Amino acid sequence: MAITQTAVSYYGLNYVEHAETDFKEMLSHGCTTVILAVTEFDFDFWRPNIPKIVDKAHELGLRVLLDPWGIGKYFGGEQVSLFLQNNTENRQVSALTGEKLVNACFNTNSFRDYFQRFCLTLAQETNADGFFWDEPHYALPKSYASITGGCADDWSCRCPVCMKKFQEYYGYEMPKIMSDDVKQFRWREAMVILETTSRKLKELKPELEITCCVHATLNSYYVTEHRGYDNWDMVGACPYFDVFSTTIIAWELPEAFFEHITRRTVEIARKYGKKSERWLMGYYKQPKDFAQIDRIADLYESLGVDRIAAWTYRGGYGTVLAAPDALKLWDCIGENYKRLLKKKHKTAK
Ligand SMILES: [Zn+2]
Repeated sequence: MAITQTAVSYYGLNYVEHAETDFKEMLSHGCTTVILAVTEFDFDFWRPNIPKIVDKAHELGLRVLLDPWGIGKYFGGEQVSLFLQNNTENRQVSALTGEKLVNACFNTNSFRDYFQRFCLTLAQETNADGFFWDEPHYALPKSYASITGGCADDWSCRCPVCMKKFQEYYGYEMPKIMSDDVKQFRWREAMVILETTSRKLKELKPELEITCCVHATLNSYYVTEHRGYDNWDMVGACPYFDVFSTTIIAWELPEAFFEHITRRTVEIARKYGKKSERWLMGYYKQPKDFAQIDRIADLYESLGVDRIAAWTYRGGYGTVLAAPDALKLWDCIGENYKRLLKKKHKTAK
């Protein structure tokens, strides 16, 4: 077993010639793939340059995956959302207070259409190799006894559309308390937008590869997050996904947690015939001891992970989410990428 893909995310898409310089730096850091974070603003404003940026990456030898970054605040990410700016409806609603939240409801036809159009247009206009579904989630909760956040009784979405769908299926009003029916409903509906869009992308271009990256949660008897994609079997079973990926784990969490998440990620990927992917935190925070990066990279490889990725280019240098030693962190990730790829070549011989 060997790592066959080393990726880094990249945002701030504007000029092709600037992207070219950055792509060369990615190659010198051992990256095989760039995950282009395409914001709603990029799509709306910089559209003419996106296909050219994709072509430039290809010309230099990088694979390209497109990430509709933070779209509708449904995917993870810091970007602002034009959908939310242009729509006062079709938002997720808090179950307990009934207030509209600042997240699009992805169970509404309005947002499903918007998302699909965004992706299909990019697929049509660019030569990208695939798409990256980046931490899709319900706004609330991060839930019960989560080790990454506080506990919560509130949840979403109890908007008119979700309530109507629930009523039609179960024959009674959607409760305000999370129940087994609500959990099943949320899981099932959450898959619709990604399944439909992935299927349509493949109908358009069968060679497009889909990675679905969900939150790295324990999902044990005691701890779960209920973000809508925490039933990994349900995600893994989707026939239109090619890669099962689980998201970044903060460096300060115990290494046993990294191992647990990674084992389960590989297990689910293999069970459903997908490739597996694990992430390195390459922004905001860095490990106390940089050797931890080497250990985690080795751990991923030893547990049979197929692909490794890092968020983000240059350790977030110049942004509010830069790691304290952003460039050093980026270099360290680069050294690990090169080391892992060398091992791959040895294994291949
Ligand atoms: Zn809803």
